[in-house]
Amino acid sequence: MAGKHIAVQDPAISGSLNLTNGNVLPWHPAGRMSTTATRPAKDGFESLDPSDWNEFRQVSHAALDRMIEHLRSIRTQPVWQAAPDGVLDRLHTPLPRSARGIADVIGEFDQLIKPYATGNLHPAFMGWVHGAGTPAGMVAEMLAAGLNMNCGGRNHAGTEIEKQITCWMKEVFGFPDRASGLFVTGTSMANFLGLIVARNAALGTDVRSKGLAGTPQLCAYASNGVHGCIARAMQMSGIGSNFLRLVPCDEAGAMRIDLLEALIEEDRAGGLKPFLVVGTAGSVDIGAVDPLERMADVAAANRLWFHVDGAFGALAVLSSKLRPLIAGIERADSIGFDFHKWAHVPYDAGYLLVKDGETHKQAFAAANAYLTRAETGLAAGDVWPCDLGPDLSRGFRALKVWFTLQLFGADALARCIEQNCRAAGYLEQRLRASGAFSVAAPVKLNIVCFTVNSDNPGPDNRRIVESLHVSGRAAPSITLLNGKAVIRCAIVNHRTTLADIDRFVADLADTARELAIES
Ligand SMILES: *Cc1c(COP(=O)(O)O)cnc(C)c1O
Repeated sequence: MAGKHIAVQDPAISGSLNLTNGNVLPWHPAGRMSTTATRPAKDGFESLDPSDWNEFRQVSHAALDRMIEHLRSIRTQPVWQAAPDGVLDRLHTPLPRSARGIADVIGEFDQLIKPYATGNLHPAFMGWVHGAGTPAGMVAEMLAAGLNMNCGGRNHAGTEIEKQITCWMKEVFGFPDRASGLFVTGTSMANFLGLIVARNAALGTDVRSKGLAGTPQLCAYASNGVHGCIARAMQMSGIGSNFLRLVPCDEAGAMRIDLLEALIEEDRAGGLKPFLVVGTAGSVDIGAVDPLERMADVAAANRLWFHVDGAFGALAVLSSKLRPLIAGIERADSIGFDFHKWAHVPYDAGYLLVKDGETHKQAFAAANAYLTRAETGLAAGDVWPCDLGPDLSRGFRALKVWFTLQLFGADALARCIEQNCRAAGYLEQRLRASGAFSVAAPVKLNIVCFTVNSDNPGPDNRRIVESLHVSGRAAPSITLLNGKAVIRCAIVNHRTTLADIDRFVADLADTARELAIES
């Protein structure tokens, strides 16, 4: 046993790996070693296991060390940089037919891939709504990949941990025991599945076999700030996105309840069948929150399914300070959200929570001979994840969530969420004080939209954002508010501090000035 364990000193410092059996192996920079992955046995059969486990161990440990160093030093790197043509040329190769050493391949990863990543690890990345990941999440992913479990079903630790996450989510969202949960890729998928469950609840599960022909025309309601995935879910469900009513919002970006009620009435009078109200807890453009409590009332009064898209905002439920902002979410029939956004679990980890597990199951479960359940053994278990969504084979996403919650505790995640909102408030203040920029939407959570004050001929918002990206200084993004392109900072990263906001405001001002001089 002893010889199998390697105590790794920081190879960047020591240049060696100390084995606990007393051997010291020099640390090789990637590219020196060349193990083939396969080793033909006497009978000519080969496997894909390493031919030299020691070398594999050594190279892998060193690669992990370099990645840890990458994470540790993320602030010293550009937020983003384009891969130069030379790098792209080296990546665009014919299909590899023969083996290479693992050190070679990892060396290519280090040189050709790692430097040209999205940038969302960096504290100055504020584009879109991206989670920042954690070093611990990376380790969880690696361990999960090691077990390589198929978590579509069956009786093993993978499905058990997924059930445990569901228990925790019921607890935090105040959902009853009968609720069910499912890991999916992201909130786009979670919202789509939630919509399918709602559709089947409205039309009856017959719709699974008979299709929509002959059924009443369904229609759904969401604010006009709703994420585009809801319209796509309407398309994919066969209901049609023409039957998604976009309800206007008030100045804070929250759905107008009076208009919601009026639209429902109008559609009923027109012979349509309202079936679904989608509330947004944290809109993608400006971080607005719909009046969830009142939407729940309207949904209940009209017997409509109430789904909440809480992609990032739902996890504000973890914070006692922020929870009142999304009050009413506990009344949803289903919630879609992402652990990969505000919980910083490595991509991807979307999640669907459904209040009535039986209704959820009826939308997807099927009796396939090869998925027969047993009383005991590996095929035991009542509800498997494959009964709750379209995926059969699926990975162990639950582990990285379990790991994240176990290691940090939910309170630390809540504090990071709160500090993002404080940073957004601070950025708003700095921009208002600057005179050079105007805040373009109310800052409710962690998103700040703003625009450069145009002293003619000033640089426009798009050019400022592009220039910040290209220089590697920061990565805000662009969105359209009332048809106008504005700069959008979604502060999601647990690494972002007020000093980062100060630096960002300075970079922004410099960039605007430089562009003004050029133009
Ligand atoms: C990010 C986001 C989505 C989509 O989630 P994915 O995980 O990217 O599929 C949906 N709604 C809102 C409000 C979002 O912010």
